[in-house]
Order: sequence, then structure tokens, then C-alpha cells
Amino acid sequence: MSTLEVQDLVKRYDGRSVVDHVSFRIEDGEFFVLLGPSGSGKTTVLRIICGLERPDAGRVLLGGRDITDLSPRQRKVGMVFQDYGLYPSMDVYGNIAYGLENQRLPREEIQRRVFEAAEKLQLTPLLRRGIDTLSGGEQQRVALARILARDANVFLYDEPLANLDARLRHQARRDVVAVHRLRGVPSLYVTHDQSEALALADRLAIMAEGRLQQVGLPSELLERPANLFVARFLGNPPMNLLEGEIVSGADGPCCALGELRLPLNPAWQQALTSRPEPTIIVGLRPREIVPPWELEQAAAAASPQLCRCLARALTVEPLIGEVEVTLELPTARQPAPRLVAVWPEPEELEALPAAGAELPIGLDPGRLVLFDPRSERALQVE
Ligand code: ADP
Repeated sequence: MSTLEVQDLVKRYDGRSVVDHVSFRIEDGEFFVLLGPSGSGKTTVLRIICGLERPDAGRVLLGGRDITDLSPRQRKVGMVFQDYGLYPSMDVYGNIAYGLENQRLPREEIQRRVFEAAEKLQLTPLLRRGIDTLSGGEQQRVALARILARDANVFLYDEPLANLDARLRHQARRDVVAVHRLRGVPSLYVTHDQSEALALADRLAIMAEGRLQQVGLPSELLERPANLFVARFLGNPPMNLLEGEIVSGADGPCCALGELRLPLNPAWQQALTSRPEPTIIVGLRPREIVPPWELEQAAAAASPQLCRCLARALTVEPLIGEVEVTLELPTARQPAPRLVAVWPEPEELEALPAAGAELPIGLDPGRLVLFDPRSERALQVE
């Protein structure tokens, strides 16, 4: 069975840790995405795994075997680089065959594998074409065919779609997934593009300043970010983050946003009362703010009760099938708290708010994520 595990990796350049105690494990057949802003250390992790860099500490295990000290050739990893790493002086056949020739495989075996990989990626008619006569999308497929033909135990991708235009990127994504499914080995894919990450990942890890911030299913990270960095980084638009206070209500703790009181689930009581300060950062996802035309339905489903209030629509921007509305909450506090809501278009288009209008909205306290402003970590319900 093939699994990839990195344990406590550290890499320093000029005394600065660019990879800082990073650990994760990718299961057989899993597509794992490392997502983070530029300079967060993602490529360095990838280069350590494929053997192009040595870590200052930590280990890389492939199928349970420590490969930290092996040369790149000995590791059996298939890597697709951002610039594809193709040889312009060779044709498509030569590029796919290159790694296999280095392994000194018999000619017939090389031919069989090249033809098979080319067929899977619709490259058969292009086998004798020079690399520089191919489009970006075709070059990308050659890079994929090359790792498919190899006997790799893990596939590594370093932003392989970054140079493609939006239309090709969509198809190329499907090719990446198809190659992954064909071989079923662990895949590690590095990107700074969250839409790509969310579309591809079985599991997702967010990296910032050399450290892993959170690892989990894409839906978990979107709904339950572990800290403010993940909350700000993920989601389009990202989670709304408002300053609030914890106060006591008649039936337990409430979250106060100005004069608004959102009754919290009593399960929060312990986590909230053990804190020395009442201030809190309240996270609310744009798609979880209830639009006027869904209030009745949402009130029936919310627990604890849905908090209704009037808000002013500052801007209303139609998207495809959705509308993005910037709302100002009605509080005496200045500046008034603002929220971005994304709503599905109402069936009756007249129901769409106009900029400047006051409208009833709903906030579901059960969907709030609460963060400690000092540690920046999400609070957990016991
Ligand atoms: P990412 O892939 O997330 O953009 P990288 O892993 O490429 O980030 O880089 C992380 C940090 O390490 C960056 O600040 C980068 O400048 C630095 N870095 C990467 N390689 C070297 C190197 N060979 N020498 C010095 N600094 C490096």
C-alpha cells in the first residue's frame, strides 16, 4: 500500500524557518492539496518530498519506508512542475519516454507504456510533434502522460495549471483528476488558488508562514475554520468577521453585536464563561445570512432561534444565479458593522433589494463561528 507521510519537517534558509514543523499523511488514492499564499513554504515541502531539497529536521515516509536520504531517482515520485519541465529538443514521445529510458527498461516495455499513457491523454496523434509546436494545454497533458507512464508511488504537482488560461484550466483539472484516478496513488497538489484547491481536494491543508494552519475536508475548513487566518483566506467572499461581546441573556449566553443579541446554544456556556474577557470575533459565512424571502423557512429550522433584524443594503451586485449584497447592521456603534451576504437569486426578481433599501434579514446563531481575538483561534464547544 502506498501512503505518503511527512513528519515534523523543518527547513531553514538564512536562519529563517520557511517550513516549520510540518506533518501530514496522505492515504493511498487520496488527492491532498496544500493551499497557501505565495511564499508560505508549499513548494519547499514538495521539493523536500521529491528529494530536491534536504530538510534540516523531520522525515519523509513513502509506503511506511523512510526515503529522506534517498536521491530523487530512487524515490519513485512523479512530479509535474509549473513550467512542465519538458525537453524542447525532444518530441512528445521522447518526453514521455525519457524517465523510462533512464530506468533502462526494455524498448518494447517503454513503447507500450508511452503508447498507453498517450492514448489515455489523447496525445497519440501528437507523439511525433516537437514540444514547441504544442499549445499550453497539450504541453500540460504531456507532463501528465510522463508521470502516468512512470512507475511512481506518489504524484506531486507544483501549480501545474498556473500558466493556462481559464478555459483550458478547467479541462486540465479534469485531466489531473483522471490521471490520479487511473493510478490511485497518493497525490499532493500545491496551489495558491483556492477555487482550484476546493475543486480538486479530497482533503485540504492550509499553510501560512511555513506552518500548517488546518487540515481537513474542504467543507470542514470552510464551515469551521480553526483560526482567523483560515477564515480570512478561504471562501469567496470570505467569512464575515465582526467584533462582538459575550453577554448573559435570559436563557444563557448571548453574542452581542451592538444592540443585537444572538442567543447562543447553551453548550457554549462553559467555553465562554471560562474566558477572562467578553470580547470576541464573530464569524458568519456570506451564504448563511438569511435573505428576506427565506426568513419563514429558516426560522422554522434554526436552533437556537433565528435572530431577525433590519439591515441596510449598501451595494447589490448580481452574480450568475446569485446576488452579493453588502449590508450594514442597525446599531448605534460607529462605524456600523458591515456584512457581505451572497444569496441565491429570488424566484420573484422584484424581491431583490435595491441599494439603499432597508430589509429584514436573519442570522442563525447556530451557524456562528467564534474566535478568541488574542489567540486568533476558533473557540470549541465542549
Ligand atoms: P510557496 O511555494 O508557498 O510560494 P516557497 O516554498 O517557494 O513558497 O518559499 C518559501 C520561502 O522560502 C520564501 O520566502 C522563499 O523566498 C524562501 N526560499 C525558497 N527557496 C529558497 C532558497 N533556495 N534560498 C533562500 N530562500 C528560499
